[in-house]
Amino acid sequence: MRVAVLALQGAFIEHEQMLQELGVETFEVRQLSDWQQPKDALIIPGGESTTQVRLLSSLGLLHPIRQAILEGLPVFGTCAGLILLAKEEDGQPRQGLCTMDIDVCRNAYGRQLGSFNATGHVSGIGEHLPMTFIRAPYIHRTLSSDVEILSEVDGHIVAVRQGHQLATAFHPELTTDHHLHQYFIQHIIPSAA
Ligand code: GLN
Repeated sequence: MRVAVLALQGAFIEHEQMLQELGVETFEVRQLSDWQQPKDALIIPGGESTTQVRLLSSLGLLHPIRQAILEGLPVFGTCAGLILLAKEEDGQPRQGLCTMDIDVCRNAYGRQLGSFNATGHVSGIGEHLPMTFIRAPYIHRTLSSDVEILSEVDGHIVAVRQGHQLATAFHPELTTDHHLHQYFIQHIIPSAA
C-alpha cells in the first residue's frame, strides 16, 4: 500500500510518520509529477486552507486531485484538509476540492479558544480518543444522507465519513494515537479497492 501525502504546507510530516509507524509506504505530493505516481489513497493535512487552495490551484493540482477523489480515490483530510473537502462554508459554496457533502465553519472556536485538547468517542473507531484542535473548524451540518457523523464534541460535528472520504476537524497525527489512521488503512482504503 502506498499513500500520497499532500506536502504543500502544514503538518504533513506527522501524517507520514504515523503511516510509516503503521507499516505504510508514503510519498509527498508537491507538484503534478509527484501526483502522477501510483497511489492507493491521499492524505490532506492541516495547515492553512486558503494557502493550500491557492497553491493547489497554481500548481495545477486542484482539478486532478478533485477528479481522482470523485472517481473513488480514498482520502483522509484533517482540519484544513477537512475544509478543502467541504462543499460549503457557512452555507455558501466554497472554492476547494468540494467533494464532501458538508457545510463547515472555519476558525469555529474563536481566537481565544482556538486551540485545545479533548477526548472523544469516534463511532466504530474508539472511545476516549485524544483530539487536538488547532484553530479548528467544525461542521455546521451535513448536506446529504451519505455522510455518516462519526464524532461530536460539545454538540459540534468533528468527524465524518462519506464512503471513501474521511475527515476530522482535529489532528490525530499530532497525538500518539493511531486509531484514525488505522481505521483509514484497514477499513476505508480496502473498501475502495
Ligand atoms: N484555521 C485553519 C484554516 O482555516 C485550519 C487550521 C488547521 O488546519 N489546524 O484553514
